[in-house]
Amino acid sequence: MEKTLVILKPSTIQRGLVGQVLDRFQRKGLKIAGLKMMQLDEKILREHYAHLVDRPFFPTLLASMMATPVIVICLEGKDAVEVVRAMTGVTNSRKAAPGTIRGDFGMSGQENIVHASDSVENGMIEVKRFFADNEIFTYSLLAEPATYGPDELN
Ligand code: UDP
Ligand code: MG
Repeated sequence: MEKTLVILKPSTIQRGLVGQVLDRFQRKGLKIAGLKMMQLDEKILREHYAHLVDRPFFPTLLASMMATPVIVICLEGKDAVEVVRAMTGVTNSRKAAPGTIRGDFGMSGQENIVHASDSVENGMIEVKRFFADNEIFTYSLLAEPATYGPDELN
């Protein structure tokens, strides 16, 4: 099944929201295929945010993402990338719809709780960027037959 990368950002750790955010993904029915805490550095962030390196806010974004360790999560499920982006909400938390993670937990464009992969292709690239092969686990969730119809399990 499809995989996507989520990062619980330093501000989420500082604000004590790790459990509540993770709980949303589990309640939705997404499977945790990988999860770990790590300290990000400039090298990995320049790669991860390559589309933003020339933007004026990039130095602030770098500092913010390195302020504490982060929690990186690989979530798995049918259409996981699209599902998780919808759960995340738009980039600016003040504009994100109530009911989304950013809409419910954030007030900032920068300190917006989570990163979530924005395409299936980037999901695969980003999971590989943050996890070694042996940190991604393949297992069956007992709840799966109750989570999906038989034709959705592939
Ligand atoms: N960001 C920011 N100001 C902006 C745009 C982005 O501080 O005007 C930060 C914000 O933390 C965002 C991250 O850079 O989550 C990556 O930006 P992107 O456009 O990829 O947004 P996302 O995919 O996270 O919604
Ligand atoms: Mg993005």
